[in-house]
Amino acid sequence: MTAKLIKGTEIREEILEEITREVKEIKEKHGVVPGLVTILVGSSPASISYVTLKIKTAHRVGFTEIQDDQPVDISEEDLLALIEKYNKDESINGILVQLPLPKHIDDKKILNAIDPDKDVDGFHPVNVGRLMIGGDEVKFPPCTPFGIQEMIIRAGVETSGAEVVVVGRSNIVGKPIANMMVQKGPGANATVTIVHTRTKDLAAHCKRADILIVAAGVPDLVKPEWIKPGACVIDVGVNRVGEKISEKTGKTIAILKGDVDFDAAKEIAGYITPVPGGVGPMTITMLMLNTLKSLKFKLGLM
Ligand code: NAP
Repeated sequence: MTAKLIKGTEIREEILEEITREVKEIKEKHGVVPGLVTILVGSSPASISYVTLKIKTAHRVGFTEIQDDQPVDISEEDLLALIEKYNKDESINGILVQLPLPKHIDDKKILNAIDPDKDVDGFHPVNVGRLMIGGDEVKFPPCTPFGIQEMIIRAGVETSGAEVVVVGRSNIVGKPIANMMVQKGPGANATVTIVHTRTKDLAAHCKRADILIVAAGVPDLVKPEWIKPGACVIDVGVNRVGEKISEKTGKTIAILKGDVDFDAAKEIAGYITPVPGGVGPMTITMLMLNTLKSLKFKLGLM
């Protein structure tokens, strides 16, 4: 069997077009567009490239976007004051603080200072709680799990009653996606198991999965014989395993591998996400959707 590829790059385009259309409609009817601010402290090249991509995508879908760059030695107090300024700013619907922050700043204190109604990353404890309660309580699911669920739905994979096994229990991927899949509602209603490094028989759990979601950060962790024939395999892992020269640009780029042995797994699975080009492109896309949702909540449209 050759699995159907679930391509994040294609789903991203669909969703960004839907967002662009909706932003135009809201602008016509209500005279406002979503506003997103990204706060970047310091000048780490990786952080700059993430922030640039977020701002570029926000611009593409018609948001008002602000990139607020701050020096690496900004005090915690000044950063908190900056967040408070954007919490109060009526034109801003989403506030993002690019992590990691310099060592003298407490990440948790900063993230918890963001107004939960503008926390489009979905990391504030209030939003984590809302996600756990489920249903109408949910405002901003964290972007990577939100993207994973959307890919599963758009691929037409049945989740109701499905055995879902999640490899990994991090706060940004494993725990939230497991929580989302177990809720009542579309793209959920599954029976969910979370496995991790203390799990006794990882292979046996994976083998039971109708939907296997792997977020471990270990290249080729999941072997083909761990996959149930016809299963949907979502590979969240992004592992840099070497470098190569890009044919397009001539520059040195990272060789990326997922957590699943893709070439062998695609012959057994029914659906599979590639790395790169699978879950990766979904995260920023869902960040845009959360920012749009934030404005819609404010306008009473949701
Ligand atoms: P993390 O915080 O390091 O968590 C990894 C989880 O996997 C932990 O719960 C760990 O178990 C478990 N694990 C590690 N090795 C294992 C093994 N051999 N057997 C069973 N479980 C194992 O990682 P994360 O932030 O969730 O990210 C996971 C991967 O997804 C990384 O490759 C990351 O780069 C990628 N990622 C991609 C995106 C994206 O594409 N947009 C977004 C986020 C993350 P313990 O808890 O027992 O240690």
